[in-house]
Amino acid sequence: MPASSSAPTTRPVRYVGAHVSASGGVENAPLNAAKIGANAFALFTKNQRRWQAKPLTGANIEKFRVNCEQHGFTPAQILPHDSYLINLGHPDAEALQRSRDAFLDEMQRCEQLGLTLLNFHPGSHLRQISETQCLATIAESINLALDRTQGVTAVIENTAGQGSNLGHRFEQLAEIIDRVEDKSRVGVCLDTCHTFAAGYDLRTHDACQQTFNKFDQTVGLEYLKGMHLNGSKSPLGSRVDRHHSLNQGELGTEVFEFLMTHPATVGIPLVLETIDETLWADEIQWLRMLQRNQAA
Ligand SMILES: [Zn+2]
Ligand SMILES: [Zn+2]
Repeated sequence: MPASSSAPTTRPVRYVGAHVSASGGVENAPLNAAKIGANAFALFTKNQRRWQAKPLTGANIEKFRVNCEQHGFTPAQILPHDSYLINLGHPDAEALQRSRDAFLDEMQRCEQLGLTLLNFHPGSHLRQISETQCLATIAESINLALDRTQGVTAVIENTAGQGSNLGHRFEQLAEIIDRVEDKSRVGVCLDTCHTFAAGYDLRTHDACQQTFNKFDQTVGLEYLKGMHLNGSKSPLGSRVDRHHSLNQGELGTEVFEFLMTHPATVGIPLVLETIDETLWADEIQWLRMLQRNQAA
């Protein structure tokens, strides 16, 4: 176990880390995560701004496995993120197919690496189709990918609702999940910055409780498979996606104390995408301290 604790009592383990670089090969991601004291990490398994990518080699896969094992990372601690180019709700048939092909490739890369989660942004209607149509298209895209893969859960990230991006309302996440056939392989990643920018307050303990209650009633906390922990430069309800460091910006810090002591965050990857990576090691330590405070 990647136990981060020297405390004598058993405390639920929270997996905290950051979205680290995989430059030079996916096998470098666990090494980069270990360097900052993380026991979770996110990575891109290919260049996130290109459609084409070389397949993973046997050497990549084997080194990734060895490095994860040496540093105590199990699949439950790893939350790969797909390419930014993919739009699973694309209104144009040809563009949609391209996105579906790329998404399947991302799922298959996860399968090859023995990973069990793939985090992705749901999709955008580009003001050419209705919200309902777009959500149905996204769900169908997920169904197609799940049909052709095994063991990988499709983890929908909530968005800030910038432009025509869907998935900013909990109801939209619920509608997608509703249409996914295999409910055992679909989940949600809540991003604190996106949640707040989408209009759900997280600035106080009470506000966090209300937002989590709302999520539980609308989607269900059992679908929470990961989180992105970010501060927010943009205000509540702005629908602008601009991350900040944890203790800076509009969000404040109570949300992180809330999360580090909430039962729903036990055993899932909690991943920083904060803007100053030189602070990641400190941010991880600080989050762990919030967890310890509660146990005391
Ligand atoms: Zn995120
Ligand atoms: Zn974001």
